[in-house]
Amino acid sequence: MEIIRTAAEIKEITSALSKQKIIGFVPTMGALHEGHLSLINKSKQHCDITVCSIFVNPAQFNNANDFEKYPVTTDTDIALLKSVGCDILFLPTVSEIYPPGLENKIYELGNLDEIWEGLHRPGHFQGVCKVMDRLLDIVQTHHLWMGQKDFQQCLVIVKLLELTNRKGILFHRIETVREASGLALSSRNKRLSPTGKENAKAIFEVLKKIKETFQSENFVNLCAEGKKYLLQHGFDEVEYLAIADAENLLLAEEYQHDHQYVAIAAAWIEGVRLIDNLLLS
Ligand code: AMP
Repeated sequence: MEIIRTAAEIKEITSALSKQKIIGFVPTMGALHEGHLSLINKSKQHCDITVCSIFVNPAQFNNANDFEKYPVTTDTDIALLKSVGCDILFLPTVSEIYPPGLENKIYELGNLDEIWEGLHRPGHFQGVCKVMDRLLDIVQTHHLWMGQKDFQQCLVIVKLLELTNRKGILFHRIETVREASGLALSSRNKRLSPTGKENAKAIFEVLKKIKETFQSENFVNLCAEGKKYLLQHGFDEVEYLAIADAENLLLAEEYQHDHQYVAIAAAWIEGVRLIDNLLLS
């Protein structure tokens, strides 16, 4: 695996390669786990060359404490990427991604910036767009592989590809990898105690319960019961637990057979903010 640290170099390499080979790109913030590796594996199945980036993007953290505590495990990450046959790792510094004089754009994300993660993490999606816009300028790719774990982020990136006229890049949303308990793998799980991790599986239990019953139950009641369950099972705060239209994430109030729904949740446990979601139909 080649490790590239500068923007100029990765741009030159991927520009040249993209003329003869199909390239797949997996952007990450490191502290890699099986969820990230599933994206690399998917990319490897469909593309000739897989590029992974590891960059903890300061612009997308609305909470300084979360940024400071974000785990950095570069040596292990490199070993994991080699073990799954990743071809190129882009490992830039902040000044490579955000050189002085880089244009500061505002991305018109509409209500995606104002609901759920957008509401609870002000500026987060502008930061995500900022880094992805820059990364996609640098890494010349045909395919982009991202996780359903960050459902709203997937919608934001599809919008970004439209806004920035990158319609040629094929976006793929890949299913969430979970622990045997159902807990979605996340770099933030590393900050939980063994008890916290055990309790955290309640978030998937609630999502599954919603999936089993949503067609016949009142959505508001179902989510209210789910919130109560989380608070009784070790969670300190539930920022949201809701059923939304899977196309635009607008809050859904009752079941209509021709819509696809997703149950979405964000909740705090042991000072760690966890998010998860489950497609309902
Ligand atoms: P992150 O390093 O958290 O920015 O995540 C990098 C990519 O991995 C994003 O596209 C995430 O949605 C995806 N991802 C994170 N956790 C999982 C998971 N448990 N299963 C599948 N993909 C994931």
